Amino acid sequence: MLVTIAVMLWLARGVADEANGLRCWTWGIAAEGLAYSLLAGAGHLPTWLSGGVANALGALSVALLFVAIRQFLGLRWRWPPLFLMGLAVTVVGTAFGGRYVGATIFNGFVYGMLQLLNAHVLWRHRHSAAPAAAAAPDGLSRVQSLVALAHLAMGLVLPARALFLALGAARPDYLDLHTGWQQPLFAFSFVYLVVCCLGFLLMCKMRAEQEVRELALTDGLTGLANRRALDEDMAQALSGAAQSGRSFAVLMIDIDHFKAFNDQHGHRAGDAALRQFAARLRMQLPAQGRAYRYGGEEFTVMLAAADATQALAQAEALRAVLATDLASPEPGVRSASIGVALWQPGDHADRLFGRADRALYRAKAGGRNRVELQA
Ligand code: GH3
Ligand code: MG
Ligand code: MG
Repeated sequence: MLVTIAVMLWLARGVADEANGLRCWTWGIAAEGLAYSLLAGAGHLPTWLSGGVANALGALSVALLFVAIRQFLGLRWRWPPLFLMGLAVTVVGTAFGGRYVGATIFNGFVYGMLQLLNAHVLWRHRHSAAPAAAAAPDGLSRVQSLVALAHLAMGLVLPARALFLALGAARPDYLDLHTGWQQPLFAFSFVYLVVCCLGFLLMCKMRAEQEVRELALTDGLTGLANRRALDEDMAQALSGAAQSGRSFAVLMIDIDHFKAFNDQHGHRAGDAALRQFAARLRMQLPAQGRAYRYGGEEFTVMLAAADATQALAQAEALRAVLATDLASPEPGVRSASIGVALWQPGDHADRLFGRADRALYRAKAGGRNRVELQA
């Protein structure tokens, strides 16, 4: 089953797997599948193969899965302790040869500890976001918690079995399924593998979905939210305002004479200026305000505003900080004009944007670097 899953994952491999740990995970479960296959050959295969190589592959798989989890969570790890662990497991496995009990006791404590470490990091970072995201999606947190619990259970079961064996409570031929007491353990291990394999795959899928969604809602040049995000947020703000009656303001911001800037300094410099402008806009936003790149050199800001006076004051404060170095000889964006519209009961998006647009045209016609409001 493990080797089959590994083959499927390998066939479906993609660029994202490098960063989220799935590539490492694939090799990990491949090694685990091979290790179990060799262990199952005990008595038929030479002991260096069913004891030594099988345990080396088992340790390799545990190390790779340990690393994969850390790669997914964006945590660091160190290879030397993992290498030492692998070496110890291999030496002990080879020394015990075909008699599994000794190796199982030793591995039970070693692997149990690694499982507990896996459970710990998965649980601790279950709400942590991917590098580019604001927060982990709910589904990801739930799946990750479940995978953490599976690791925790295995982290308790393995040393418990080792202790049980060490105290001589089981017959030495315990690996034989018919001895009974191992069957619940094997059943548990099967559930564990399903939860962990499927769980890790789902975690990667949810992370990828979230990253694609973030990309779809972000403007590539400025890193601001894009037009699609604006449309989504606008729909939400409109229904929220309709329900609560609490109003909000829309600011349409258009950079002044930007075509001239491009003509004079070139489009690459224009791009850099747009990025700079967006960064300034983002930094100067009032609390609960959000900025979007509407398109071209036009930006939109949505912010909470109780009335026209408050909206105008906030827009005027923004205009003042965006109009920098008016006298500077250096290339740069000098100013922007802002049109403001305040939500009114019964508004829909087109009507609200229409008023903000008319206000913006008045600001341009009135000489630029100014704010106008359309009631
Ligand atoms: P106004 O003060 O009336 O707004 O004048 P303007 O020159 O800013 O307005 P206009 O609409 O004539 O020109 C907008 C310019 O913005 C033209 C276009 O080349 C430039 N622009 C739009 N998007 C980008 C972009 O992504 N990068 C660069 N470099 N320029 C862009
Ligand atoms: Mg424009
Ligand atoms: Mg312009």
